[in-house]
Amino acid sequence: MMHRSATILLLVFLLFTGCTKDADIIEAVDPVTDNNQVSTDLESDKPSTNMTAEQDDSLKASPIASETTNDHNENDAIAVTETEETDEVAFSNLNFEYIDTERDERIEKTVNQAYQKLTNDFKLDFSDAITFKIYKDQKEFWERVFGGENNGITTGFANHVEKIVHLTSPKDTSIKSEAEMLKVPVHELVHVLLPSNTLDIREGLAYYLADQLKDFSTDDIPENVVNIVTYQGEGDQIRMQYNLAGYKAKFIIEECLDMDYLKYKTYMTSPNDYAMLGYEHEADFSNALTAYLQSQAF
Ligand SMILES: [Zn+2]
Repeated sequence: MMHRSATILLLVFLLFTGCTKDADIIEAVDPVTDNNQVSTDLESDKPSTNMTAEQDDSLKASPIASETTNDHNENDAIAVTETEETDEVAFSNLNFEYIDTERDERIEKTVNQAYQKLTNDFKLDFSDAITFKIYKDQKEFWERVFGGENNGITTGFANHVEKIVHLTSPKDTSIKSEAEMLKVPVHELVHVLLPSNTLDIREGLAYYLADQLKDFSTDDIPENVVNIVTYQGEGDQIRMQYNLAGYKAKFIIEECLDMDYLKYKTYMTSPNDYAMLGYEHEADFSNALTAYLQSQAF
């Protein structure tokens, strides 16, 4: 008798939790699958977890994923864990390794949030593991990643083929402020998720999406805005090239494509297709971009 009451109580509990917390998800789940899931849940005695393990492929690209509690991952789909009180997410395919330095949860938080936003905005079907290696300081980062002498500019590096990101710890502020250092992991994540061989697109998009844009003057605007990133010049000049390429990405996404990230993704595959951006010839685009940069200058 006691056992039966307990079972009924458990069923009531399941119904209750199912109808409140995960209401949005249940609507999207096939009723047959849902029933199967409930019976699995009964056996595992974990009513609120694993409700949607098999739905991950569709969920991970939608905002619903952020509301999913799913820490039982039996297939190769990406698990998303979330704490009850906050909106923080943690994707199981993002790994963080700290080399001779303490864990820094700020990096993990910004990377996970950016990963969620980028895969959603750009509708990326991405499931590979990405490893972030964080070194204690600039010297260690350079020695381990490049060897030789530190160039005084680079504090992060992404190998988009192997999907490894190397980073100087944000606690080392010898090159940038801590706030700026904390944007670098997102910049490098953009390189892994949205790689491009076109320098202006590669660096401009990363700069723009990682919120690294800075003020500039009309004197900084180059003659040739078709190829802004040339790597000619000193550290500050190269940084300004990245910055202006960032404004170029902003111009294309916000002004030419009206925030349509999917169209930008198509543009990335044919960067000389100015018709896609609403301009007949390269010169028309170039003039419009120069005028835009002048309007943004201080
Ligand atoms: Zn970069």
